[in-house]
Amino acid sequence: MEEITIEEYKKAIKTSGNPGNKYGAVKSRCNKNHLHDSKAEAERCNELWLEFQSDFITHLRQQPKFVLLKGFTDREGNKVRGITYRADFVYYDADGIRVVEDVKGCLTGVYKLKKKMFLNKMKRSNTRFVEII
Ligand SMILES: [Zn+2]
Repeated sequence: MEEITIEEYKKAIKTSGNPGNKYGAVKSRCNKNHLHDSKAEAERCNELWLEFQSDFITHLRQQPKFVLLKGFTDREGNKVRGITYRADFVYYDADGIRVVEDVKGCLTGVYKLKKKMFLNKMKRSNTRFVEII
């Protein structure tokens, strides 16, 4: 096992990881200068922009938001906030099918739940869901 000094250890924990993300993904910029949550997401953005510029896909948008459950008022009159799901990208492929993409480094419990709700909501729509892990 390699030993390091306290100073080296302090420096290592200071420079590793990313304060904005508890799962250790490093925010990265794509060629369009968007700040993405991870390097994988930035790279996927670069790929999608090339496909968009070559007209393989259309209507490319980032961070599309979907309402999974509308806000409501419960029996006691308490307002309950709705549940939304934000994917990474949405576009239409060459066959005119809407594709919703999510680039995931870590499949959290909340994400798995939202994904199920999203898939259920989209089951009869012309939407394909793509998860990039
Ligand atoms: Zn981007």
